[in-house]
Amino acid sequence: MSIEQNLNKIRQSLPPEVTLVAVSKTKPVADLLHAYQAGQRIFGENKIQEMADKAAQLPNDIQWHMIGHVQSNKVKFMAPFVSLVHGVDSLKLLGEINKQAAKNNRVINCLLQMHIATEDTKFGLDAGELKEILESAQLRSMAHVKICGLMGMASFTENVAQIRSEFSQLKSHFDVLQQYNALPNVEPTILSMGMSGDYLIAIECGSTMIRIGSSIFGTR
Ligand SMILES: *Cc1c(COP(=O)(O)O)cnc(C)c1O
Repeated sequence: MSIEQNLNKIRQSLPPEVTLVAVSKTKPVADLLHAYQAGQRIFGENKIQEMADKAAQLPNDIQWHMIGHVQSNKVKFMAPFVSLVHGVDSLKLLGEINKQAAKNNRVINCLLQMHIATEDTKFGLDAGELKEILESAQLRSMAHVKICGLMGMASFTENVAQIRSEFSQLKSHFDVLQQYNALPNVEPTILSMGMSGDYLIAIECGSTMIRIGSSIFGTR
């Protein structure tokens, strides 16, 4: 099937309140352009340099989402244009994003990444670390970042019950986050969970944003 057919098939399976991020990492610009021509405007990349290179070659009404692990020293390369950073996993990184956003006179939207999988190779915060960030004095002084919600990745497993339990855990962290929305830079509306293999389960568990790569663009 073509990229356009894949996209349409996925869109038909989504409730209207769920946003689709087309994960285009490693794929050539021509593939992104096919998706763009089929109406897709949100693309996710996991390397800052690759995202910046692609952004320079594609129409400027695309919203670029950084879905990978972010190295502090590279934040400056995405700060001028990035639309949402999914993988924020420390106050230190949030501080650097705030600093680079200020230099660009903008507010950068961020999701805090939670660790929900059993694999310890996946990045992310636990409940205690999330609370620590939300209650820190530093966060209150960061006028150039906005915490828009949470992101997480379930374990890579065929065990549907386990995936469901991990996504439900992330949803309950998201519910906790709502209690902080009196803070000026906390406005939690996005729960980013679900990939090609597990997005239907994620939606059942309350996802509002899914990140789909291989089911749109083919295997990497
Ligand atoms: C690659 C990636 C995806 C997309 O994975 P697929 O299985 O190809 O849909 C989603 N989220 C993150 C964080 C990724 O790195």
